[in-house]
Parts: sequence; structure tokens; C-alpha cells
Amino acid sequence: DPQLNANYTFENYIEGDCNRLARSAGYAVAAKPGGTSFNPLMIYGGVGLGKTHLAQAIGNEIKRNMPDKLVIYVSCEKFCQQFVDSLKNNTINDFVNFYQAMDVIIMDDVHNFAGKEKTQDIFFHIFNHLHQSGKQVILSSDKAPKDLAGLEERLLSRFKWGLSADLQVPDLETRIAILRKKMYADGIELPAEVVEYVAHNIDNNVRELEGAMVSLLAQSTLNKKDIDLALAKQMLKNFIKNTSKEISMEYIQKLVCEYFEVPVDMVKSQTRKREIVQARQISMYLSKSHTKSSLKTIGAFFGGRDHSTVIYACQTVEDLIDTDKKFKGYVHDIQKKLKMS
Ligand code: ADP
Ligand code: MG
Repeated sequence: DPQLNANYTFENYIEGDCNRLARSAGYAVAAKPGGTSFNPLMIYGGVGLGKTHLAQAIGNEIKRNMPDKLVIYVSCEKFCQQFVDSLKNNTINDFVNFYQAMDVIIMDDVHNFAGKEKTQDIFFHIFNHLHQSGKQVILSSDKAPKDLAGLEERLLSRFKWGLSADLQVPDLETRIAILRKKMYADGIELPAEVVEYVAHNIDNNVRELEGAMVSLLAQSTLNKKDIDLALAKQMLKNFIKNTSKEISMEYIQKLVCEYFEVPVDMVKSQTRKREIVQARQISMYLSKSHTKSSLKTIGAFFGGRDHSTVIYACQTVEDLIDTDKKFKGYVHDIQKKLKMS
């Protein structure tokens, strides 16, 4: 099927918390098209989060296991255009028959049906025909069915019949895994800190994440040059906005507490528990070196302490960095994370 793009497979669709349900539902549907309660299967989520990839992967998987199945992938936009053309050319029956003969229909971006009542009517009939004959319908959309505006109620109610599964923004680990996969596919390896930098900073869209990587890889082959963090930052200026975002004490506090797995508000409390004191002192130390705040402001922020407490904290941290290798490693790790932002 020319409409299916063989590059979109389950194999190269990285799994994470962000897509686990959608991915496994897709996999179930691919194993038994029309034979699960996930009919229709509706995959929804924002731009660039992997809807098309997953929808295509389902189609490819079905063709791989069951080559005789008739699978059609069509964007909603294209479907609407075909409908208009068939009206013009008086071939509406051919149009409907073509789709009704399918075993599996994958329609991408159904939010584009909005306002197109006649096309929705036709699709409503095609949908009913396929569904009643036990054929599989797979849909994608930028919103959950209940939030889709401009679609007829009866069509929306059909969309809610099966399973709706959303795709969310991948977390850091998943983003890194996606980048690694991409590098592996291109046979190029970038330094870990560059990969982490990209994954840290492009955190809302997989397409942009890949775009940044493609751009880095392209420039590295062009210049036949190894890319280090400084060069990557330079190259990715267009992808990454506000690179010189100011570091706040709040942010330092958050990073430190995440790192040591202590509750955020504890560093501001009066507790003398060892790990809390440590988190508090490191937070103060980093605030002194990474923000323009005065000792007084830092003390006040971390639980209403005075400036001498901050001085003492900074001294303690500096001493420990000199004498305790493990401690030095902690501070170094956190500083690295700070610089990523
Ligand atoms: P959408 O259709 O939701 O706008 P796409 O399916 O076009 O998003 O995905 C954008 C890009 O990101 C594609 O190149 C796709 O292969 C890639 N992508 C998205 N999610 C993943 C994932 N989980 N693993 C690997 N690549 C992904
Ligand atoms: Mg898409």
C-alpha cells in the first residue's frame, strides 16, 4: 500500500509512560484487527507527539502479519479532498465502495473534519458499514473525542465507542532514548552530554527533538567535526529559545531536592536531619555561585535564616568538596544539571 510508510514501525517507536497505553492498544489491534473491543481505536495528542507514527505502525504490522488484508491509510484532509472530487466527477459510488471494501481504515487527524458536514455524513456511513462487518477503524486526532469541536454528535458518539488513548509529552529518559535510536539509525554517535542537552531543552515535541538531532548530525558530517556541548549550543540556537534563562533559587531548590529525593519544602524547614541539612547547604552554596542574590536574600529564602548561616553553609560545602569524593560528585552532578537548563 503506497499510503503506508514503511519507516514507521513499532520497532522504532520508543515506549515510555507517555505512550504505553496507546502503544499496547495499537499492538493488540494490529494482532487482531476488528477482533478487539478497541474499535475504533482513537489515538489523540498534540502536534509532533507520534500519532502518525503509531497509526502507521499499526498498519504496517497488520500488513506484515496478514499481507492479504486491505489496509488503507488516509489523512482526513485527503479524504475530504477525494470526496469533493468525487462529487465533481460523479464518482461518489466508487469513492464509497473503495473505502467500504477495506479491512482496516486508518484515518489521521480527524479533527480536520470540523465544519465539513457532508464529508462527515459520508464517513459516518462508511464507518458504520465497516464497523458492522467487523472491520477495524483506527483514528487519530489532536484532542479527545469529547473535546472535538465542529464534529457532528452522531459521529463523535461513534468515535467514543472503542478505546481512546492519549499520547503525552515523553519524559526525559524517553526523549534520550528517542535521540539514541535516531543516532543509531544514522550510524552517528554524539557525546552523551550533547544528547542530554538536546533532550533537556527540547521538551514538548518529538518532531522538534528529532529535527534538532538531524540538524546536529547533518552539520557534524558537513564539517567533519566532532560536536561538543559548546558547539551544539551554538548550532541549536534556532531550536532552543531562551538559552540564557536566569537560574532562580527556586529552581536550584527543586533540582537539589529532586536529586537527593527529599521533599521540596523540607529545606526551608527547621529540621536538622542530616540529608535535609545537606540539601539545604548545597542549595545555599549553588544559590551563591549561580544567582545574583545576596547572602541575606539567600538566607531568607531558605527558611528565614541569616547571612552567617549562608556563609557557614558555603564553607561547609567547599570543605566537603575538597575532602569527600562522593560529595564532590553530588555537587558536580547537580551543577551539570543546572547548566543544562
Ligand atoms: P504527530 O502525528 O502526532 O504530529 P508524528 O507521528 O509525525 O507526530 O511524530 C513526529 C516525529 O517524531 C516522527 O518522526 C516520529 O517518528 C517521531 N516519534 C514520535 N514519537 C516517537 C517515539 N515514541 N519513538 C520514536 N520516534 C517517535
Ligand atoms: Mg500526524
